[in-house]
Amino acid sequence: MDQPLIFAGAFFLPRQSKAYAALLSCREKGVIYLECSEADISKEYQQGDFTLSPNIMGLPISFQFEDGSVFNPDISSKTALLEWSHSYRKGKWLEWIENRYKALVLCVITLPIIIASLYLYGPTLLSRVTTPFIPVSIDELVGDKTLFLLERVDLSESNLSKVMQNEIKKAWHDNLKKLNVPHQASFKLLFRRSEIFQNNAFTLSNRTIVMTDSLVKKMLSNQQAIQAVLLHETGHVIFRHNTRALMQSFYTTILTSLILNDLETLNESFIGLGTGVVNSAFSREMEKEADDFAIQSLKQLAGSSNGFIEAMQVLGEAHVRHHKETWFESLFSTHPPIQERIDMANEP
Ligand SMILES: [Zn+2]
Repeated sequence: MDQPLIFAGAFFLPRQSKAYAALLSCREKGVIYLECSEADISKEYQQGDFTLSPNIMGLPISFQFEDGSVFNPDISSKTALLEWSHSYRKGKWLEWIENRYKALVLCVITLPIIIASLYLYGPTLLSRVTTPFIPVSIDELVGDKTLFLLERVDLSESNLSKVMQNEIKKAWHDNLKKLNVPHQASFKLLFRRSEIFQNNAFTLSNRTIVMTDSLVKKMLSNQQAIQAVLLHETGHVIFRHNTRALMQSFYTTILTSLILNDLETLNESFIGLGTGVVNSAFSREMEKEADDFAIQSLKQLAGSSNGFIEAMQVLGEAHVRHHKETWFESLFSTHPPIQERIDMANEP
């Protein structure tokens, strides 16, 4: 706008009904200039010094000033006035963006980081904080249910001799006693044959550890390695990792449904809570926690963590010979790489 728009109209002083003839010139960026010789007024107003009345059909648009005075332009100038007010409002919006573009850019960059951090750390932290409040009876219920399902799908009676089974169990219970593990009387160890798990051991939330026959056979010559595996699983039991993993996946689902505003997913997360245990894999952080427990316990019991290193070597060899993990196996194993675990055991 090069030339100001000039409108004639009536000017009213605050709380007065007398109309004075006046001229109003509208300039760029919402600056106006009022001239009313009858009332001896000649003044410039900036944005914010005045408000425009809403656009109501059939009525003129009026300018209301902070001191209560009013200017009513002639109704014939309404269209031109509206155009001017739109253009200066558009300019106002651009100016607003210009003033805040740094903040906007910062928002655009930081928002995905905030969401990603929420995803990465939110469920982990929440599950850590809330797991102690989950009643142990729920752990037992979920663990019993999972064992029942696994026994129907895959696990079958062990072929190992009772003598061998009892020897391993006794050594493990003796270790728990020496380590003064709380609630150790309720800890259970089962030996089972498994097509799916092959050379493996895993923990259920009802304080039950399952070790497969084939893993025991791989470690027969090294009882320390068997105890190292059992102590790793004991770590999972002590820290209630099954429940934590379950809560973690539950919070992740809630977070997803909140971000996507999808209430159906939220429903599913409640329904899926009971069955989620089969899908919940321990995080690397939990595996490290269990490894750390096994390593420190072995150092305390045997003076060294060699049993752990040997167990890792057997697992590593078995893993290479076997494959890639089956999908079912991978549900239960998210262990860090073998070498990383051995390095951890070698730390003083
Ligand atoms: Zn583990």
